[in-house]
Amino acid sequence: MPDLPEQIPPPRKPDGSPVSPKDLEAIFPRGLVEHEVTSERFIEIPEPVRTAYLELGRPTPLLRARRLEERLGTPARIYYKYEGVLPTGAHKANTAIVQAYIASREGVERLTTETGAGQWGSALALAGALFDVKVRVYMVRVSYEQKPYRRVLMQLYGAEVVPSPSRFTRVGREILKKDPDNPGSLGIAISEAIEDALSNPATKYSLGSVLNAVLLHQTVIGLEAQRQLEELGEDPPTHLVGCVGGGSNFAGFTYPFIKEKLRGKLDAEVIAVEPRAAPSMTRGVYRYDYGDSAGLTPLLKMHTLGHRYIPPPIHAGGLRYHGVAPSLSILVNHGVVKPVAYKQTEVFEAAKVFAQAEGFVPAPETAHAVKAVIDLALEAKRLGERRVIAFNFSGHGLLDLKGYDDYLAGRLVDVEPENIDLSYIPRLEG
Ligand SMILES: *Cc1c(COP(=O)(O)O)cnc(C)c1O
Repeated sequence: MPDLPEQIPPPRKPDGSPVSPKDLEAIFPRGLVEHEVTSERFIEIPEPVRTAYLELGRPTPLLRARRLEERLGTPARIYYKYEGVLPTGAHKANTAIVQAYIASREGVERLTTETGAGQWGSALALAGALFDVKVRVYMVRVSYEQKPYRRVLMQLYGAEVVPSPSRFTRVGREILKKDPDNPGSLGIAISEAIEDALSNPATKYSLGSVLNAVLLHQTVIGLEAQRQLEELGEDPPTHLVGCVGGGSNFAGFTYPFIKEKLRGKLDAEVIAVEPRAAPSMTRGVYRYDYGDSAGLTPLLKMHTLGHRYIPPPIHAGGLRYHGVAPSLSILVNHGVVKPVAYKQTEVFEAAKVFAQAEGFVPAPETAHAVKAVIDLALEAKRLGERRVIAFNFSGHGLLDLKGYDDYLAGRLVDVEPENIDLSYIPRLEG
C-alpha cells in the first residue's frame, strides 16, 4: 500500500459517502478490518498461523520446469511456485487460515461465506476445522448438484454446505418464492452469506479474494519465492506471471517483487492473465462498482465488467469474477502490470503441454498463467533472449478433470462476450 503509485480510492456507500472501518466491522472480524486498512509495509505473521502454515506444507516448493524448457527449446529458465501441495490443492488456504485464526481469537463462533465450484469453500472449511470455528458455506446450487467432490471435501472438514438460493435467508426465500428452480449465482450466494452474518450473533462473513487483507495474506507466496530464488543463486526474474480472478494469488506472488520494481531495484515485466470470457482488466472500465450482483457490498473502485455481468460458462470457474482488486487496478492503470487475455481452448492446450513435461496438472485457472509462460518462453527462443520467467502455480487440477475430459473430447468451445453493457454501473464522483 505505501509503495503504490497512487493511493487506493476509499470504499464508498451507494450515496457516495466513505465506508468507515466501523461499517466494515459489522460484516468482518475486527482483525481482518485492521489488515484491510493498514499501510504498514510488513505485518508479522501470528505464531499460530505460522505453525499451521508449516504443518500444512509451507514453504511450498519453487520448482524449475526443466523438461518444459527442453521441450520448448527455449533459452529461458522457468520457475513455478507450487501451491498445489496445500491440503485443498490451492493457494486459498493461505488467507483462510488467517481469517479463521482471527475469528477464533475474537470469539466469533461461526463464519459464513459463498463458493462457486468450491475451492474457496473447502479452504475455509479446513481452516474452520483447525481453529474450531463453525463454517457455513452457501454454494451455488448448480455447482452443489453437478460438482460433488469439493462439496464432499467441505462436509468432510465439518462445514455446513447449503445450496444457494436457500431458505435460511430472506434474500434466498424471496428468490425461491418466485422461482423454486433457480440455479443460483455467486452474487446471490454472497448476498445470502452477508445477510446471515449480519442477522446472527457471533457470526461474521469471510471473503476469499479482492480485499486488501486477502492480498496481504497471500504475499507469503512471493516472499518465499524471493528467498528461494536467492538461495538457488538465480538471477532476478525478468518476467513474473500469474492468473487473475479477483487478484489474490497474482498479488500474493508478484507484489513483493513489484515493491522492488517500483523502487527501481528490479527490471521485470509483470503479466496478469485473465480469460477472454471475463475480461475485466482488458475490456472493463475503471469505476466504483459493487462486489456482488445484488449490490449489498460497499462500492470499490476497480476494473469491472459490471456487477450484474454473467460470464459465459468456462471451466476456470475461479476466474469468472466481474471485477479485480483495487490495488491491482491501479498497477494496471500505471502500466506496472500488463494484462493479457486468453481463450480457454488455447489455455487447455498449454496445460496439456505442461502436464506432459512436468507431471503436475494445472487447475484451469492456473493454466491461464501456464499459457502466458509458454508464449514468453517461445518468444525468448525467437529473440535468443536469456530470460528468467517465474510464475505462480496457484493450484492443481485433479478435481477439475471434467474440464480436461471436455478438452480431450473436443467439446470445449471458446465463448466471448460481444457487447458488454456497462450502463448500469452506478455513477459516483471521483
Ligand atoms: C480461486 C482460484 C484462482 C482465482 O482467484 P484469485 O483470487 O484471483 O487468485 C486462481 N487459481 C486457483 C487454483 C483458484 O482456486
